[in-house]
Amino acid sequence: MDSFEDIIGQDEISDYFRRTISRGKVSHALILNGEKHTGKEYMAKIYASTLQCEKGGLKPCGECHSCMMAASGNHPDIITVTHENQRSIGVDDIRQKINDDIILKPYYSARKIYIVPEASIMTEEAQNALLKTLEEPPAYALMILLVDNKERMLPTILSRCVTLNIRPVDSERIRAYLKAKKSIWGRDADVAVAFARGSIGRAEMLASSGDYIALMNSVTELLSHIREMGISEELDFIKKIADNKDTAFDHLDIMEAWYRDILVYKSTGKPGMLMFLNEQTQIASAAKRAAYIDISAVLDEIESARDKLNANVNVALVFELLLDTMKERAVSE
Ligand SMILES: [Zn+2]
Repeated sequence: MDSFEDIIGQDEISDYFRRTISRGKVSHALILNGEKHTGKEYMAKIYASTLQCEKGGLKPCGECHSCMMAASGNHPDIITVTHENQRSIGVDDIRQKINDDIILKPYYSARKIYIVPEASIMTEEAQNALLKTLEEPPAYALMILLVDNKERMLPTILSRCVTLNIRPVDSERIRAYLKAKKSIWGRDADVAVAFARGSIGRAEMLASSGDYIALMNSVTELLSHIREMGISEELDFIKKIADNKDTAFDHLDIMEAWYRDILVYKSTGKPGMLMFLNEQTQIASAAKRAAYIDISAVLDEIESARDKLNANVNVALVFELLLDTMKERAVSE
């Protein structure tokens, strides 16, 4: 069974977990804060099964009845709170699945542990309902909220919880993990690490997902001939992103890597350091054409597009502006 030693690159969090157990000071409410695919649920489950293990050590023994139930996902006192609606967790979800249930004593273990994935999509009403429980939790209760956008949590909730922030894992640790545990190395590992944003789960997903490679190909195809791109092609491209908003940040990551390659090539002239090795002809000619100032203007615009998406500016508008900047800056001789 996995234990704290299996959590890679989050030493502060693992230390916190160990410390609370060895000192017998387990909080009633925790927030694990970090992007999607950073292993929040994995970490929460390790903490929960360690706390419930009948041997009471710093790792789940993997042999007692509690560990068996936890490993099979059937522990009655480790409850993952699900929700029907993809976009939000409503007040009824919280009332039925937490507030009405938490008053019943644990069935088997000393504690009753609730894990709430995607807790930042709780509506304000739902958060207020949860707050009542967090204000006076039963002694046996532990609530672990998994949050990918802390800004969406009410300050009153944040003040009742201990917040643990997930840090980006450094590239070499991700690379080592992919090689040792997933037998992924070479170019596939390079791509996964480059776009992982410090997340092991994301790296793993990228390395094994044909979707991402397809997306990368479609973006680089467009960027290779951005100067000749016609209006209808531009609109089609923007529409595709707007129809599938989840990919908006992925598009920006790929675009950024592309322009970084142009910058690297312009300053070193060495293809060996490029991310997009297969497209080195296009990278080289773009590097020759564009001035440093144009390349950095595009990189700035990509950064600003990220801020705008975070601030919920219309996706189509953000990409329209960005593509216009790219076109303007792709200076011809
Ligand atoms: Zn055990």
